[in-house]
Amino acid sequence: MPITEKPVSWRFEIDLPELGDEFATTEGHWELHDLQRRGEDDAAILYDGLTFRLASPLRIDAEAVWAGESLAVTIRLECGLSSQCSRCLEPAHIEILEDFMYLYSLRQDLKKRGTEEEADEFRTVRVPCWKGALDLSDQVFESLVLALPSRVLCAPDCRGICPGCGKSLNREECVCATQEIDPRFEGLTTVEFERQTE
Ligand SMILES: [Zn+2]
Ligand SMILES: [Zn+2]
Repeated sequence: MPITEKPVSWRFEIDLPELGDEFATTEGHWELHDLQRRGEDDAAILYDGLTFRLASPLRIDAEAVWAGESLAVTIRLECGLSSQCSRCLEPAHIEILEDFMYLYSLRQDLKKRGTEEEADEFRTVRVPCWKGALDLSDQVFESLVLALPSRVLCAPDCRGICPGCGKSLNREECVCATQEIDPRFEGLTTVEFERQTE
């Protein structure tokens, strides 16, 4: 079964910087070749009706620094994913390289206290107490899901499949293509093909 939530084997722990030292930073680096440790072949993420598989290792780089009483953690994700083009159903490749910022805090009223800008920039996570290390795996999984595109195209100008004869219009012209398709119906044909893949 494809993954729809964080794999149980995930654990990405980062040491806490020295308390009271606002310049101290700690780092964590990980590389996953499979989304699940056992490397089952069906280790793909299923999200919003789309399936994503790792095409290159998932690199996770994290850095933590104190921001007052809270811990600011930047999580950088880098990987290549393979999925299926929503228009032509051919394989499509996606590159992910994105930073996510988290603010871990003991405070419950964190969101109300920060400025609106801070609230936009950081996602806040409440922690019950500080231990020697902090497990980032929930936020790594959340970041990965947030980084996934809601729509996948093999190329920005993918011409899709002819609704008349089913040929891929990226590879060949067909007789139906001489009759212009009303652009308003383009969305409808996409929906139709998405349903067929389910
Ligand atoms: Zn395509
Ligand atoms: Zn056709």
